Amino acid sequence: MNTGNYKILVIDDEKHNIDVLNDILSPMYEVLVSKDGLHGIKMAKEIVPDLILLDIIMPDMSGFEVITTLKGVDITRRIPVIFITGLDSYKDEEKGLLLGAADYITKPFRNAIVKARVKTQLQVVEYIRALERIGMVDALTDLPNRRGFDKQLQSEWGRAKREKTPISIMMIDIDKFKVFNDTYGHAQGDIVLQYVAKEFKDTFKRPADYVARWGGEEFVILLPNTDMEGALIIGEHVRANIEKLRVPCASGDAKSLSVTVSIGVNCEIPPRYSTQNEFLSRADKALYAAKEAGRNMVIASPLML
Ligand code: GH3
Ligand code: MG
Ligand code: MG
Repeated sequence: MNTGNYKILVIDDEKHNIDVLNDILSPMYEVLVSKDGLHGIKMAKEIVPDLILLDIIMPDMSGFEVITTLKGVDITRRIPVIFITGLDSYKDEEKGLLLGAADYITKPFRNAIVKARVKTQLQVVEYIRALERIGMVDALTDLPNRRGFDKQLQSEWGRAKREKTPISIMMIDIDKFKVFNDTYGHAQGDIVLQYVAKEFKDTFKRPADYVARWGGEEFVILLPNTDMEGALIIGEHVRANIEKLRVPCASGDAKSLSVTVSIGVNCEIPPRYSTQNEFLSRADKALYAAKEAGRNMVIASPLML
């Protein structure tokens, strides 16, 4: 573990505790400190540390309130939090863990224990990052990524072939997203991607339907056992829902923002008409046609006879 690269944020109102934790941890990690909860949250959002050590009893905002806020904000949601507190009842410990803390250490603590537990949490952080690197989950939206999608397509394609059932696909691309980013900033663009992803997750509830982030501002949805007619109805439903979606705006005058999507739909009964790659590229061509035709619309790939 390359310890020097990790940032640890200590939120504690007592100077003595901050000093002790700083002494223990700063030889190995970059230690940042905040003496109250609100300021600590602000720092966490700005710095996005790898780990947070959090006191519970503080004058303005308790550690329980701080962790609740951190877990409710996307950018800080995944940062592990270790409580370091004088509250030593098992009820408080249980509450802390239920609120999402990764660990709970009571004061007075032993330096070696703090060091060991911090190290453990950072190892977990490293492990998750490695999984994400090789993995199949897109960290921004928590949707499967393209790798996950490819694997799913492989198996559903095989099944459609065996069972001679139709399989449909939707390629979805957010319209004029570059302009959106340029106008409202990349961070706001990321929030939009999360809302759009959530809308897809809420719309597609059939277990076989598979939503993935294809990359950038493109999403792909696989609909096994669905014919073209059905896929077009669902596509139109999705398009209309995204058009209605209102995304909170973090800054500026506007209270909420909206985007539209273009959708290309393709349906096949494999392998009569095409290969998997053709299946994808026909959906992509239909998407391109939807863009050409003016965006915010659903277009079907022409059926091959
Ligand atoms: P079109 O309607 O033709 O699709 O126009 P567009 O601007 O959406 O398409 P283009 O492919 O030119 O630009 C895609 C933009 O999507 C570029 C980039 O700014 C944005 N984008 C891609 N990935 C991300 C991301 O992860 N976060 C944010 N905020 N923006 C992204
Ligand atoms: Mg694109
Ligand atoms: Mg686009």
